[in-house]
Amino acid sequence: MTDTTEVRSLTKELLASHPPATTDRTDFLKARFDAGLAWVHYPVGLGGLGAPRSLQAVVDAELAAAGAPDNDPRRIGIGLGMAAPTILRFGTDEQKRRLLRPLWVGEEVWCQLFSEPGAGSDLAALGTRAVRDGDHWVVDGQKVWTSSAHVARWAILIARTDPTLPKHQGITYFLCDMTDPGVEVRPLRQITGEAEFNEVFLTGVRIPDSRRLGPVGEGWKVAQTTLMNERVSIGGSRIPREGGMIGPVAKTWRERPELRTHELHRRLLDLWVDAEVARLAGERLRQQLVAGQPGPEGSGMKLAFARLNQEISGLEVELRGDEGLLYDDWTMRRPELVDFTGRDAGYRYLRSKGNSIEGGTSEVLLNIVAERVLGLPSEPRSDKDIAWKDLSR
Ligand SMILES: Cc1cc2nc3c(=O)[nH]c(=O)nc-3n(C[C@H](O)[C@H](O)[C@H](O)COP(=O)(O)OP(=O)(O)OC[C@H]3O[C@@H](n4cnc5c(N)ncnc54)[C@H](O)[C@@H]3O)c2cc1C
Repeated sequence: MTDTTEVRSLTKELLASHPPATTDRTDFLKARFDAGLAWVHYPVGLGGLGAPRSLQAVVDAELAAAGAPDNDPRRIGIGLGMAAPTILRFGTDEQKRRLLRPLWVGEEVWCQLFSEPGAGSDLAALGTRAVRDGDHWVVDGQKVWTSSAHVARWAILIARTDPTLPKHQGITYFLCDMTDPGVEVRPLRQITGEAEFNEVFLTGVRIPDSRRLGPVGEGWKVAQTTLMNERVSIGGSRIPREGGMIGPVAKTWRERPELRTHELHRRLLDLWVDAEVARLAGERLRQQLVAGQPGPEGSGMKLAFARLNQEISGLEVELRGDEGLLYDDWTMRRPELVDFTGRDAGYRYLRSKGNSIEGGTSEVLLNIVAERVLGLPSEPRSDKDIAWKDLSR
């Protein structure tokens, strides 16, 4: 069993053989992956040591103190947060070996082809079809709100392979090469003015059966792993005190006494405490994750993150008065990352509106908490046993 001393000494060896000051960033990240220090809880040979997840904090602290580059999880959030845990759990050895290293290093960006115009909250209603043709699948359909599709090399994709079964069955999970013929990515401008996400049209895309993830018809089960991890990755990333949205507001409060009012002071203090409670609850959730896959509690974290971001960014706009209404850039940028703290108050205010929609809406997450955490009766579902092709649309 790997322990703290061993992990620390492996980290020191990596730093000695690849001094951060003189090593190219990508070379350093590749060496870190090969040393098993990327995600220590992953298996040996796949960037890990098969060690307890909690030891990652030891590695991260040593590397940060030495000024080593990190793999910028924001840019590659979908790969790290959603694709990787799903591939690790359901992938073949070949898929894991081929895909995880470039994913972690950031050489290959991932996107998520789940949502469709008629299948968002009710994701199991999806209509994108995959039809078997020898050792390939031919995929036709339309996806929407696909973050990072414009920079992605790979996508996790769910498609219907048997429309005669009820909607949660007959779905299969694929790994789609975004450079394949028939994949068309069109920008979608959002409330911030940017096109951070896209529509993706799939026309006769041929996906080899070797890029299927999990058994035919069991894509819904595979997708649950992705979705549970998505909520933790959106709501529960590790941040220092005042490292999230509350940071810029607290800074403005300290530096600009002329903006202060008694009422704003009271609200800022309430939100500061809520932000700190959410941050520490996230830390607790990560400790629980040491024991395995995330549970429905991650939905609670994601809910809290969305509510807080919207309240804090609203307070910030009020605090800044007329200045808060200024917007820094209305050109249709196509960003690779969502930079909450590096932009203006107006950007934070507008972008946080998406927090209660992306990764599952707050209303749907409340349903999950009610049913799976509190054990309350589930929503009535009349379409559970009807073949997907017979559902009214
Ligand atoms: C910034 C952003 C990035 C995104 N990135 C991606 C991505 O990369 N890949 C991807 O696949 N998707 C992505 N999405 C899509 C996102 O997951 C969906 O928008 C979301 O699941 C909601 O689906 P919908 O938009 O179809 O809304 P709908 O499902 O039509 O919901 C409309 C409203 O009805 C409510 N509602 C629906 N069902 C219920 C219910 N049972 N009980 C109570 N209320 C209900 C919803 O909460 C919502 O308020 C992104 C969305 C955003 C905003």
